[in-house]
Amino acid sequence: MDHSDLPHMNWRISERARKLTSSAIREILKVTERPEVISFAGGLPSPATFPAERMREASERVLRDSPAAALQYSATEGYMPLREWVAARYSKDGVTIRPSQVLIVTGSQQALDLLGKVLIDAGSPVLVETPTYLGALQSFSMYEADYVQVPTDENGLIPEGLTPELTAGARLLYAQPNFQNPTGRRLPLERRRALAAFARTSPFPVIEDDPYGALDYAGAPLPTLLSMAPDHVVHCGSFSKVLAPGLRIGYIIAPEELHFKLVQAKQATDLHTPSFTQRIVHEVVKDGFLDEHVPSIRALYRDQCAAMLSSLERHMPEGVKWNRPEGGMFVWVNLPKHVDTMKLLEAAVADNVAFVPGGPFYAHEPDLSTLRLSFVTVPPARIDEGVARLAKLIRERL
Ligand code: PMP
Repeated sequence: MDHSDLPHMNWRISERARKLTSSAIREILKVTERPEVISFAGGLPSPATFPAERMREASERVLRDSPAAALQYSATEGYMPLREWVAARYSKDGVTIRPSQVLIVTGSQQALDLLGKVLIDAGSPVLVETPTYLGALQSFSMYEADYVQVPTDENGLIPEGLTPELTAGARLLYAQPNFQNPTGRRLPLERRRALAAFARTSPFPVIEDDPYGALDYAGAPLPTLLSMAPDHVVHCGSFSKVLAPGLRIGYIIAPEELHFKLVQAKQATDLHTPSFTQRIVHEVVKDGFLDEHVPSIRALYRDQCAAMLSSLERHMPEGVKWNRPEGGMFVWVNLPKHVDTMKLLEAAVADNVAFVPGGPFYAHEPDLSTLRLSFVTVPPARIDEGVARLAKLIRERL
């Protein structure tokens, strides 16, 4: 929607707000809500994985046992039993995470906003992967970050690319080692070690954003950067992909000094994460529910991913390349360089199939021939139909 003709628009808008732009993709993708559209565009978890009955029972118990506390204002840091649960879950292999390092936030998206508030000044260099999570670029741009792209390949960020010249003056490095949004890539163990070693000597934190870590199809997670360099890494976690995103519950694990600043920033932002939902989440997870629930999400996504990969193999013409994710929700596709996926999207939507063009996931110099496919919410038969339609449109452009 164009707001420029609204009567109040002679009101003075901040320079910061003036620079905000709405994405062209969002406008095109609005039509994908039509039921006839096969959409690989959404970043949404499958609602089949939401443990609704557990949530209902937990909400009832919370309201029955602690109605006053659940409905009252509470501490900015978060609900202590949930902070303790998070700390215990990350305390293993000789690493101890203290509850005093854990801040419960309103979705891990808020973690990115608070980190931007606390670490970034206008013009501060901020290191990001190539490509990276669009939502992180949006968050850090609010604080006028000056992005520096770190070289990556099909295995993700290349630690050797973090040269003194590239990283000089940086305030943070934002990385997603597990099943990155948008590429689905997982950083190999050797690179994790190298990145942790980098974190230990760098004068700024490495932010490990990890909403997809639990969704590795083989159930064989690689160690987090946090576990390798706990004093130098800030870890962002979320219940969005393992319980439900509508709860808006995530967390930041950070050294106490930074934690304290984040708490101050959060207090000014929203006082605290909703008391009620924090208690519900704690009630649901406290007795080990995730250990029985998460394997069922992994199995579903693994099958969905396999369906997507076999449809890509069946239908895509020569010259189209994609990766084989080991977890998470996304496949990253590279088309021949002359195909512009933004233009392709317009044709695709007219043909009732949708994806997200890769361009907006780059801080600079976008590769316009890339696209992201999400496979978790579309049933396999529809996946095949959607990929066939897409392949036909791509073939016409070769
Ligand atoms: N980080 C990444 C990489 C994401 O993909 C998302 C969700 N799409 C988020 C953070 C935000 O997740 P939430 O706020 O629901 O925890």
